[in-house]
Amino acid sequence: MNELLKKTATEQSKALKNKEISAVELTQAAFDRIDELDEKLGAFNSLTKETALNTAKKVDEKIAKGEELPLLAGIPLALKDNMNLIGSKTTASSKILENFVSPFNATITQKLLDNLVPIVGKANLDEFAMGSSNENSAFKKVHNPWDLKKVPGGSSGGSAASVAACEATLALGSDTGGSIRLPASFCGIVGMKPTYGRVSRYGLIAFASSLDQIGPFARSVEDAANLLEVISGHDPKDSTSLNLPVEHYAASLKDDIKGKKVGVIKELMSEGLSDDVAKAIQNAIDTYKKLGCEIVEISLPKLKYSIGIYYILATAECSSNLARFDGVKYGYRTPDAKNLLEMYTKTRAEGFGPEVKRRIMLGTYALSSGYYDAYYKKAQQMRALVTEDFREAFSKVDILISPTCPNTAFELGAKSSDPLAMYLTDIATISANLAGIPGLSVPAGFDKDGMPIGLQILAPQLQEGKLFNMAYQFEQAHDYWKQLANI
Ligand code: GLN
Repeated sequence: MNELLKKTATEQSKALKNKEISAVELTQAAFDRIDELDEKLGAFNSLTKETALNTAKKVDEKIAKGEELPLLAGIPLALKDNMNLIGSKTTASSKILENFVSPFNATITQKLLDNLVPIVGKANLDEFAMGSSNENSAFKKVHNPWDLKKVPGGSSGGSAASVAACEATLALGSDTGGSIRLPASFCGIVGMKPTYGRVSRYGLIAFASSLDQIGPFARSVEDAANLLEVISGHDPKDSTSLNLPVEHYAASLKDDIKGKKVGVIKELMSEGLSDDVAKAIQNAIDTYKKLGCEIVEISLPKLKYSIGIYYILATAECSSNLARFDGVKYGYRTPDAKNLLEMYTKTRAEGFGPEVKRRIMLGTYALSSGYYDAYYKKAQQMRALVTEDFREAFSKVDILISPTCPNTAFELGAKSSDPLAMYLTDIATISANLAGIPGLSVPAGFDKDGMPIGLQILAPQLQEGKLFNMAYQFEQAHDYWKQLANI
């Protein structure tokens, strides 16, 4: 492998500017790495070589002319395969969209192209982003680069694995209940979910629209902050997009954090926590103490309901969002239907995988007349109470910390026959989506088998600057983030 692939985006940008390597060579090096590795890893559904190399060429032209480069120009990036890139397949890892070619660019994709970021390919995911292990892809499983027998986490498993294995330097994922933070934690990299509304969802295949948010993966906090800057901003095409200026999130990374109050979420420090994860979080607490922060124990009494609330709201929203896949407008259509109704039902029966079907049925039930008040309405009310818990907590502390997941990556197949066990993997991440607050996972050590552990940090709405600052200070106090999977 070209050694430069192991560097951060910041370092790669310097190498491009100093002409140690051209952007075309760097992008080609990423493709060589993918060619050598991805058969084992399964991180990519498809590659977008032409687009990537054309973008890289434009970067080299600018360098040759001595022109200023946009942020992250020339840095190879993997796009989760539920985001549209014009002229390429967008499958959501589902049979129903197996041959769907995007007729338009997502807003985030357009922003990446405008910044001359080479998009190397479409990263594998759990079908329609439903899952925590990336075993729900209709095409192939993703393997964890730290141990190929283990899962990379989901649903953005391909995005996380590609960055951890240096097939790409950056990636985008979507996070509805933890799908960026969980795989970042399992793969030993940084993954960040912005405040709801910070990043446009236009061109992202909707799963649960009131929870979905696109965010960055990187091998350093600084790179993640820069990637968020590139993709965020108001978009009139997404009615939930916030009309706020784009911030330079990396500006505050080096700010002194002495005197900041760090809340430790009590409910996430007990039940089901593995010893190694507990030790790593204690180590994070000690680190913040050494950096001059005050540690406060915080209780979020409604957190225990978050999985229940989420699986009513997310399934209800997905049952509505996925109604559009009916064989008429896009994707797969059953070849042998006798009439229209049979065409709809057969297309959906043949096109969707088992987890997607389970969720459509659960969501349809929760929304049906007679059950709506008991389930959907009650879950909405409980969602407001979870949000209130956070509001109260953030009146006492600057950030909240917890493990990103109570355990490290598990073996492929270990939970795939038990949906409830799989749903519980998201216990620490889901509540941030319910409350719309930003959160990230940063490498915080390793378990006894050498598998990465993630520290989750949460901040109040719109306080991404503070979130990155607190994460950066922790990251720089250790060298966990510098360790790469030996693959
Ligand atoms: N694991 C959760 C689920 O299956 C979250 C998925 C996500 O964030 N996209 O719904």
